[in-house]
Amino acid sequence: MNIKQFSKILIANRGEIACRVIRTARKMGIRTVAVYSDADRDALHVAMADEAIHIGSAPSRESYLVFERVIDAAKRTGAEAIHPGYGFLSENAAFCNACKENNIVFIGPPVGAIEAMGSKSAAKQIMEKAQVPLVPGYHGEDQSRDILKQSADDMGYPVLLKAAAGGGGKGMRQVWKESEFDEALAAAKREAMNGFGDDHMLVEKYLTQPRHVEIQVFCDQQGNGVYLFERDCSVQRRHQKVIEEAPAPGMTEELRAAMGDAALRAAQAIDYVGAGTVEFLLDVDGSFYFMEMNTRLQVEHPVTEMISGQDLVEWQLRVAAGEPLPLTQEQLKINGHAFEARIYAEDPDNDFLPVTGTLSYLQPPATSEHVRVDTGVLQGDEVSVFYDPMIAKLIVWDENREKALQRLTKALSEYRISGMTTNIDFLYNLASSAPFREAQLDTGFIEKHHSVIFHDAPQDIEQELPLAGLYLVLKQAQTAQQLALHSVDATSPWNATNSWRVNEPHLHNFRLRFHDTEYPVVIEEHTLHSNAATTIRYSISTADKTVTAEGRLENDTLSANIDGYQFKANVAEHQDVQGISYSLYTQDSALNFSVVTADLGDFDGDTGSGGLTAPMNGTMVTLLVEAGSSVKKGDALLVMEAMKMEHTIRAPADGVVEEFFFQAGELVDGGAELVKFATEDA
Ligand code: ADP
Repeated sequence: MNIKQFSKILIANRGEIACRVIRTARKMGIRTVAVYSDADRDALHVAMADEAIHIGSAPSRESYLVFERVIDAAKRTGAEAIHPGYGFLSENAAFCNACKENNIVFIGPPVGAIEAMGSKSAAKQIMEKAQVPLVPGYHGEDQSRDILKQSADDMGYPVLLKAAAGGGGKGMRQVWKESEFDEALAAAKREAMNGFGDDHMLVEKYLTQPRHVEIQVFCDQQGNGVYLFERDCSVQRRHQKVIEEAPAPGMTEELRAAMGDAALRAAQAIDYVGAGTVEFLLDVDGSFYFMEMNTRLQVEHPVTEMISGQDLVEWQLRVAAGEPLPLTQEQLKINGHAFEARIYAEDPDNDFLPVTGTLSYLQPPATSEHVRVDTGVLQGDEVSVFYDPMIAKLIVWDENREKALQRLTKALSEYRISGMTTNIDFLYNLASSAPFREAQLDTGFIEKHHSVIFHDAPQDIEQELPLAGLYLVLKQAQTAQQLALHSVDATSPWNATNSWRVNEPHLHNFRLRFHDTEYPVVIEEHTLHSNAATTIRYSISTADKTVTAEGRLENDTLSANIDGYQFKANVAEHQDVQGISYSLYTQDSALNFSVVTADLGDFDGDTGSGGLTAPMNGTMVTLLVEAGSSVKKGDALLVMEAMKMEHTIRAPADGVVEEFFFQAGELVDGGAELVKFATEDA
């Protein structure tokens, strides 16, 4: 291989990783070719690349996984090398071979290395020879029940049965005691046979509190290898990582060197070239065991970049072109601490199931030397069923873990996405929880600290409810002010939103929904005049207390004073099929709620003819009964929308709806009469 930089490369991937690779290639003066499916015609990676080739329809097996089309695209555009990113074709030995046959450089390891790591049992045999520590266990050829059982009895329970061909946690069973062995073996074999057509089993010691710690390795074609330290990826949901960090908390220099050396032995045992990751389980006693080697760039590589100051994609491109590694082990140093949080379109309250939708509002935190956002989407883009639901990776850096963590929670609180459910609040709760701050990490972290992370402790809501109420009332006032600016008569009482009603107290009634439970919040508004200024003070009552509050709302930042305690919170609005919901971020919590019924338009039959007038400027959404209908007190008559919230207007008493003054879609001024209504006794 000549030592010559590529002039053009093709990126056989999409989304954030394609954009990530393009950024470095551009920095190095290398031209880029993107490939895209029907679903990605207008995608960011296509816009960023110098050229782009269409390779098929939306499903990846008809586009991104069809390696003949990828190779054709490279030939057509004269790309000398292909970067596979992660996922898709990145660990596909046949694709790697096809590149070679077509004289295209595969930016990754040699075929042999990919193949060697393909089977868990074969990989273990190679690692055993290379003296890389393995989880105690059996990974032999003899698959008789007695041999497997004997090995489990010998190592002691609990054990883990694992399918040799496994992946994604399939064909894996924990066995807690001897009497459960046979049943678990049968189940694991069945699952493995169904999933992979192969029921070859490994038996491993089951570690009850392991951490997932992985080592980034890099090797060149000249036979040099270095490790770029470790990443702790213990925080996982559904066996997939959500927050990663580097370096691993509590890591000693000795352990780091021991794990780094073991990882390099693993890489050298398979003649590795390029970027790779050796995954280990780290036990509570400091023992570590090889789990698997990923023969590609990992999703979480940015945390390593942040602490090492290196661009790993640049290293990949240089090594693939035949250059030696840019630095030696001695030259590599850890600087500070980095976290990565993966922002997903998924519902943490529904077992983290992926969701789809349009990113109707997308505002990441401001980037800086401390905050990096790797993404492949723009506002207005679709998160579709076809690909991974990851929206972005938020990466933060600072000089130590505590400061970096503070950066992370702040950046998460500033991350605004509307259009679909995301895991941002979950990540915020997780990152700001005491166990995470204290780095009590192991692979069971999320299950173990469920009640803290999911805030399902009932007392939490009582703390936040007044704040949520304060936000709503301030938001109403703000919206009304904006509308009044454009109104003919800015001083008209109809442009006020302080529940202005003749001879009635300034009362707002809200019902907030939080985790399927509704909470009433009643807010009384007092206007205080002094020489200097006019202040508005609120008495906010929830089921068990009343607080006094003042506040100011500026660009989604809520400055609150509740019973003398001043603090700031951030609020994000999300629009989904169920309507609008809110996320309220304070220093140490995130609260998601929606409004069941706003006070406005919720007419109270007792106050009678307060009149069926529009509570505020808005739009008529729908009329729910015919003019002339007889209705009962409380029947819904129409729905208005104001401030993006829907308000149902109900019959104040039994009576007849004589006439509607607005039709669906029409704009309605606050205070305008909506309905001519005759009560029964009138
Ligand atoms: P897969 O390839 O199916 O994802 P892995 O072998 O990579 O399976 O393991 C996935 C996860 O299962 C690990 O990240 C770890 O959390 C857990 N795990 C694997 N082996 C063990 C073990 N011996 N003891 C405890 N946990 C384990």
